[in-house]
Amino acid sequence: MASMNRDQLAAELSRAGIRSGEDLIVHSSLKSLGEVEGGAETVVAALLDVLGPTGHLLVPTFTYSLTMWSREPFDRLASKSRVGAITEAVRLHPRAIRSFHPTHSVAVIGPDAEAIVRNHLHATPIGEGSPFARMCERGARILMLGTYQDTNSTLHYCEVAAHLPYLHVTFSDGQDFEVAWFLNELGQIEYTQIFEIPGCSRGFRVVEQPLRQRGVLRDVRIGPASSQLLECKALVEAMRELLAEQPGMLLCDTDSCVICPKRRASLKDQTTA
Ligand SMILES: [Zn+2]
Repeated sequence: MASMNRDQLAAELSRAGIRSGEDLIVHSSLKSLGEVEGGAETVVAALLDVLGPTGHLLVPTFTYSLTMWSREPFDRLASKSRVGAITEAVRLHPRAIRSFHPTHSVAVIGPDAEAIVRNHLHATPIGEGSPFARMCERGARILMLGTYQDTNSTLHYCEVAAHLPYLHVTFSDGQDFEVAWFLNELGQIEYTQIFEIPGCSRGFRVVEQPLRQRGVLRDVRIGPASSQLLECKALVEAMRELLAEQPGMLLCDTDSCVICPKRRASLKDQTTA
């Protein structure tokens, strides 16, 4: 497959249905696009070309800076995104604003970026008041660019919106929060408790077929990349119904998983209580 340049990529995005002026959450795999002239920065430029000056681009720039997982505290200006080259290129874009959150920061480009990322530290990572929730309220769509539902962070928001009874179950036993650390504006280390920590997303692809059947998930192709397009609000509504029928459907079946079995057990406790 020949390599793609910025204009070709922008044309592919438009053809797949991305519109000027819309708000878009993007989860991405650079590798899925084959060879791109200029790499991740070109993908970001093409996305911004299509979204235009009034649209918004949000990508995760997660660092998972819990004291038990991360040797370094979250530094909003310096900590690299751990979720892919395209997200890191958005973070480094001169117009991007990164939210201040030690585990689930995001980077946003667009005229309302400041309002979308505001106060993330005082919200839950992906719950009410988070940038993901705000994008949803604004009517955003989600593009899985060469990725699948197991990287769709908004499904964690769906868990919150569906009030699932396992949200308090954490990776650590015996506490309903995890401890994260970060550098504050003065460069000093601070610690904070993270409630509603997003669990495991390994099992999330189970939603793809039911969402397709409901017309909520549309398969699209961006160059060589099999991709998916969804509307946030329709996703939240569909997941509310699916999770009401089957509250454990987003939990994975891996025996070695450190959180899903505990969360599943907590659902059983609920039904026998
Ligand atoms: Zn799991």
